[in-house]
Amino acid sequence: MQAKRVFLLVALTATLETPLVASIRVAVQAVPRRTRAVRHSVGQRLMWIGAHPDDEGLVVPIIANECAQNASACRFLVFTHGERGDCALVSGCGDLGSLRATEMMKAAALLNADLVLWTFSDVGENVDATWSAEAGGHEKLIDQISRAVADFNPTIVYTFDPNHGSTCHPAHRAVGELVLEAISQERSPDLILIETVAIFAGNGIEFSSAAKDAVEVDVSDQWDYLIRDVQAHTSQFTPQQVESLRATPIEKRRAFIFRSPLPLQPEYTFHCDQ
Ligand SMILES: [Zn+2]
Repeated sequence: MQAKRVFLLVALTATLETPLVASIRVAVQAVPRRTRAVRHSVGQRLMWIGAHPDDEGLVVPIIANECAQNASACRFLVFTHGERGDCALVSGCGDLGSLRATEMMKAAALLNADLVLWTFSDVGENVDATWSAEAGGHEKLIDQISRAVADFNPTIVYTFDPNHGSTCHPAHRAVGELVLEAISQERSPDLILIETVAIFAGNGIEFSSAAKDAVEVDVSDQWDYLIRDVQAHTSQFTPQQVESLRATPIEKRRAFIFRSPLPLQPEYTFHCDQ
């Protein structure tokens, strides 16, 4: 995630005919009309694709139950080690890339998820060009992503919405664009884009939707997994931030998602400069 002030949470969506939403509808009676609980149907294979160690916090409260209950249900694909991120440890982080790789392994283990951790450079500009050069060309980069998806054979892939990347971090937006390009060449899986934005205000974190028409998901029953995930990334989150997550009121424990393809004209309320 972007260390600065914005962290994110999730996204998820689906059309009414999918098993995911069909089961969601059953679970939602007691909450406001737009809000859904998350209940993936049995046998789903869930894949998160992000830019940095800790980005998966956006999707953890949506998929954690399935990951925990089925050892082969979840895989995280992370493009970089996040070696140029911030360090939240008073004692310093030393080799930040190595430390964050270790934290990412811990986080994946907590979630019972496979981890594929790539070594593309942690850049904040010219992301596509940099990663394409490192992969041997743009087509090879897309092919590498496609093969990684095919290798796991997911039923649902979660990633960033390239329109904002949840924090406007260029690498988040690039991952979203690259995944969309790679998966558009396939018949499956379903693709779900994260619309959750989390703003860091002081030591607190507030969650909101990047778009008026995104699907709001009640993730209160999996919130503890988010806290555990964040605690695994000790170089990125202070104890105060962890406590603020723990103190988030139950009615604010929400994630927001769109299913790809996006609505024709999404009503975004969260915008990036470029
Ligand atoms: Zn990130």
